[in-house]
Amino acid sequence: MNDSQVTPKNTLRCVQCHEPLLRQGATMCCANAHTYPLADGIIPILLDQRGNCSHYAGQIEYFTNEFKNYGGYRLDPWMRKYVDAAMQHFGPPHAGATAVDIGAASGYITIELARAGWHVIALDLTPASMVSLVQSARQQGLLERITPVIASAMDLPIADASIDAIVGNAVIEHLPDDDKFTAELARVAKPGARGLLVAPIKLKYVWPWLWPVNYYHDRRIGHLRRYDRATFAALLARHGFSVDQAQYSGHFVKVAGTLGQMLLGTHRYDEWLERCDRRGAQRAFGSSNLTVTFHKLSRGAII
Ligand SMILES: [Zn+2]
Repeated sequence: MNDSQVTPKNTLRCVQCHEPLLRQGATMCCANAHTYPLADGIIPILLDQRGNCSHYAGQIEYFTNEFKNYGGYRLDPWMRKYVDAAMQHFGPPHAGATAVDIGAASGYITIELARAGWHVIALDLTPASMVSLVQSARQQGLLERITPVIASAMDLPIADASIDAIVGNAVIEHLPDDDKFTAELARVAKPGARGLLVAPIKLKYVWPWLWPVNYYHDRRIGHLRRYDRATFAALLARHGFSVDQAQYSGHFVKVAGTLGQMLLGTHRYDEWLERCDRRGAQRAFGSSNLTVTFHKLSRGAII
């Protein structure tokens, strides 16, 4: 490992005092002697006591279990949709452009952004997911452009105004305080930075016969709330961001087709189902997920 892998342009910060972090032996350390261990010899665990809550403990347990049988890097058609949406909104990276992928999980967005030339800080709360991400990044030859960190999305270990692009795919609904999370996004984003957030849509847009299964899924996976365009617009505006676009996915044909394929043990119709689903991108009703793209307003701009 070299320093550029851990501190690209020195953007990592201590979560207790916000001083820069440097590698010191087998740890990361700030000028005030706050010390953080490395998981797998490479991934700083940048959590402090504020990260300890029963909800987070449950989330780590759930997602550690999810990654037990992780079978290596894949980019399925439904994943490609989010990668395309991010790339389209962010545009090509300028030299030194840095993105942060919050709740990076298996890391497919991190890896595809790195392949496109971005430097990516990949952040997740669950060590097992970051270990998988590092393995995939190494296998794809892209680890040099990726800084993996284990941290809370509500206490980003990142310098102020250092980020050009933000990804938060299916993470905000898991967080105890989405206002604090959005304040953190505003702190780390440069003026004009672009972002993409994905979340489950409010149940009033979901077909009523799917409410029980959605309710059960929310409890099981740890979703604390759902969103629509208006809630995202208000939340983001409070922190100096403006929504650009909303897109909807997971319509009935996609959900029913995916379940049918699971029963038949096939992925033969994946591409077709995705194409069908994309046709409903502007239709909120009957969808499952909402993707919003946004940007940070320059200082002094009128919202
Ligand atoms: Zn410190």
